[in-house]
Amino acid sequence: MKQATEIKATAIFRVIGQPCWGVPSDDARRAHPYKVCWNEETGLWECECRDGQFAAGRGQSANCKHVRAVMTSVLANKAQAEKPAVAREARGSMRREIKMEGSVPMR
Ligand SMILES: [Zn+2]
Repeated sequence: MKQATEIKATAIFRVIGQPCWGVPSDDARRAHPYKVCWNEETGLWECECRDGQFAAGRGQSANCKHVRAVMTSVLANKAQAEKPAVAREARGSMRREIKMEGSVPMR
């Protein structure tokens, strides 16, 4: 059987008040979305799924398809938000977000 395709970024939703996102599962047996969180303290991505828990157990950032889907979504939203020219002075307030991305293992 062919491996499931990557999750559509459009189906992802942001959890209000938390650095977390809900990612719909592509597993028909699971009704609830997976919760993917950015842990600012550890600088790691966390996911509820088996891969995510395995990574967390090893002190590593989760790199499952849920986390990748969130990263894709976040980057897409960021690109959208940055379309209007950002004043140099305004970049100070964006430092936190940039720091977060800097910690994400990119491929
Ligand atoms: Zn996951």
